Amino acid sequence: MTINKVSIKAPAKINLSLDALRKREDGFHEVAMVMTTVDLADRIELTLLEADEIKIESSGGFVPLDERNLAFQAALLLKKTFNIKKGVYIHISKHIPVAAGLAGGSSDAAATLKGLNELWGLELSLDELAELGAKIGSDVSFCVYGGTALATGRGEKIHHISSPPPCWVLLAKPPIGVSTGEVYRNLRLQGIKHPDVEGMVKAIEEKDYDKICSLLGNVLESVTLKMYPEVKHIKEQMMRLGADAVLMSGSGPTVFGLFQHESRLQRVYNGLRGFCHEVYAVRLLGE
Ligand code: ATP
Repeated sequence: MTINKVSIKAPAKINLSLDALRKREDGFHEVAMVMTTVDLADRIELTLLEADEIKIESSGGFVPLDERNLAFQAALLLKKTFNIKKGVYIHISKHIPVAAGLAGGSSDAAATLKGLNELWGLELSLDELAELGAKIGSDVSFCVYGGTALATGRGEKIHHISSPPPCWVLLAKPPIGVSTGEVYRNLRLQGIKHPDVEGMVKAIEEKDYDKICSLLGNVLESVTLKMYPEVKHIKEQMMRLGADAVLMSGSGPTVFGLFQHESRLQRVYNGLRGFCHEVYAVRLLGE
């Protein structure tokens, strides 16, 4: 049976721990990150086109609608690698904030790779898709698998770990977009406080919620919080209002808080809405 249409979820990720170890010769940093998925997601709909072309549209967010779009790049990469003569119409329903530190673009690319694998009948394994994904961006490999993982190298080497204990996550995004490249370019590693990534992996494996909260850490805060004081302000407010723990995700500017109790999540959500327009209450998917 030929499949003509595929609809696939592209969830956002947060970093529970993010460390940069050194700058490499290729310009990237060697990183160690603990990443996990949350249930805030874009939806990617792929429709088979008999013509040899890639069409892309999006609703609900401002993203480029040409080869700069990471979902478009994913389709182009598969086409070129496997000499595909069919086409695809990609429709993105955008719900993940753009340039926010939540890997929205990477997740759209990963979902497109997975969806086209079905639509074009390529029969590639997840490992093969993740390897291809790394050519598009460092976070795409993780997004192909989802779940929870330790990511090393420039972020493309994925080591699966068990899921954290269930909890709530509050995401708050100030109205600014942050360029990941710029943040890494401004990162100074000398004298910086490194998060305990190994400890975080252990705390997750042991499902120790309090330990997870106490070990949250992100070296990129040293850059983004200085560049954008509003990110620091949201962190302080979220903590003051009663989050169990708070951290910036990726290169920012999104800040997330963890909660074990829904009633407290609700209270902090209401408190934050006063001065931050974009706030999302979601669950950790983790697996
Ligand atoms: P990461 O956490 O992986 O660094 P991010 O959440 O900070 O990613 P994205 O939302 O992925 O950032 O967007 C980064 C840039 O990629 C933006 O400048 C955006 O215009 C571009 N982009 C290309 N394709 C997409 C897409 N499908 N969705 C969102 N952004 C996209």
